[in-house]
Amino acid sequence: MSQQQMQGQPMIVLGDDAQRMKDESAQEHNISAARAVAESVRSTLGPKGMDKMLVTSLGDIVVTNDGVTILDEMDIDNPTAEMIVEVAETQEDEAGDGTTTAVSVAGELLKGAEELLDQDIHPTAAIKGFTMASEQAREEIDDMAIEVDREDEEILRKVAETSMTGKGAEQHKDTLASLVVNAARAVTVEAEDGSYIVDLAYLNTETATGDSAGNSEVIEGSIVDKDPLHEDMPDETEGDVLLLDSAMELEEADVDTQVSVTDPDQLQDFIAQEEQQLQGMVDRVVDLGADVVICQKGVDDMVQHYLAKEGVLAMRRVKKSDLEFLREVLGANIVSDLDTATAADLGAGTVTRDGDAEHYIIEGDEDAHGVTLYLRGSTDHVVDEIERGVQDALDVVADTITEGTVLPGGGAPETEVAARLRDYADGVSGREQLAVEAFADALDVVPRTLAENSGLDPIDTLVDLRSAHDDDRVRAGLNVFTGDVEDAFEAGIVEPAHAKRQAVSSATEAANLVLKIDDIISAGDLSTEGDGDDAPGGGGMGGGMGGMGGMGGAM
Ligand code: ADP
Ligand code: MG
Repeated sequence: MSQQQMQGQPMIVLGDDAQRMKDESAQEHNISAARAVAESVRSTLGPKGMDKMLVTSLGDIVVTNDGVTILDEMDIDNPTAEMIVEVAETQEDEAGDGTTTAVSVAGELLKGAEELLDQDIHPTAAIKGFTMASEQAREEIDDMAIEVDREDEEILRKVAETSMTGKGAEQHKDTLASLVVNAARAVTVEAEDGSYIVDLAYLNTETATGDSAGNSEVIEGSIVDKDPLHEDMPDETEGDVLLLDSAMELEEADVDTQVSVTDPDQLQDFIAQEEQQLQGMVDRVVDLGADVVICQKGVDDMVQHYLAKEGVLAMRRVKKSDLEFLREVLGANIVSDLDTATAADLGAGTVTRDGDAEHYIIEGDEDAHGVTLYLRGSTDHVVDEIERGVQDALDVVADTITEGTVLPGGGAPETEVAARLRDYADGVSGREQLAVEAFADALDVVPRTLAENSGLDPIDTLVDLRSAHDDDRVRAGLNVFTGDVEDAFEAGIVEPAHAKRQAVSSATEAANLVLKIDDIISAGDLSTEGDGDDAPGGGGMGGGMGGMGGMGGAM
């Protein structure tokens, strides 16, 4: 045991390997770790941002431009750096897009905070100023937001295209944006109070390789990627569908049980009994009135045979997620026990077969709804990146439909909000004023990076943007394709306000969290390369602190 102190002072018991950092050095350390992570995704921001190739420990490769995917795959084991990863995850969960923006702003806020601390401003004042600025920024975002017609497909398509530009999906963005809009609109319901709900539970995405992304399509219903089970079963049918998550087989125990038979009759009896059980399952399905059985588990050969004889179409070992989606599409229940099932658990549907694609298409009746976005791409890597792009686009289109507002993109909101925050700062007293100004400066990271990533001069761009906003051109943004500062809304660069608001609040929360830490107590050596989990636990503080050992190592 080392560093034991008695005589009325707090006693801290640390192990021999334990390390401790306090105040400035703790903050400096944390800030640089968090900033390094933010910096690593910044080069992907915007339509001209670059992609990252990530190689997992198993040697799998992911090529992506998507902030949250990059950070998730990076396997960061530094606790402060992980807070930045959490920003991306929160942004992804809450808004679905804008992860790179959120992380870049968080990194830049921390850079600003570092300068504030260097000027001997207490972290508490920095935190307070950031919080005030964040609230004000969100109000300004709402104020800037442009109301749009939620049913205006053209504006929705622009929102989808803006989000897909620069991603793998870009090359076919015309087709894909239309598909995204159609799919989102197909699952939109207008509530009684006049609000719109985009129920993404009714929307599924499936992918296939070996074809151009331009041949992607929206399918009214669900796709089940299965081959026909039995040659005598119908390929296509219409009627009641049973969703079953238990096996139509004899239980394992029955198969393995040793049976001693003394004469052939007994063996016959035993086999007959098993057959009877299987036949019983089929009878039950027929009694329920099912024309189709979709089973998550196995279906015994004998059961297949009997079902075929009854003209029932069956599928087996269907993915749980498919079954859950079918429940929505068909308005059915998932049955676990055939004996207690009733006809009310079934759903009406139509099954057709796409022989070329080797899958079934299952549609519900008029009451039920559900669509599948069927995405195609040449290879796995291509189609995966297209799917990530399309997911983001779906989220922003859904946000636009539910909120009915958009913002111009291309750094327009950041520049405008920054300008308004600088005005607002004049009325803020004390040291918080400096923090509000630092916050405004941090927002500039977005237009600056958009310019940088497009090979434009970031200073020139910022100057142009600021003078446009000084002239009350609120929607002026950088169009990276022309290199000009222009009305981003007119240029069709539009985003939902929600993602921007969320990016501001999650970036602020993360920066404040990092700033609140004034003490790092680690069970391991703070300077060792990220092997924190193996660091020996030290004295009384060992247990829960093990994960902090990699501090400073991962980057
Ligand atoms: P994020 O993960 O934050 O969504 P993206 O790489 O998708 O990051 O980039 C989004 C940013 O790119 C937004 O600020 C958006 O306004 C901007 N953007 C999109 N299209 C254009 C364009 N044509 N010109 C300039 N900026 C654009
Ligand atoms: Mg995006």
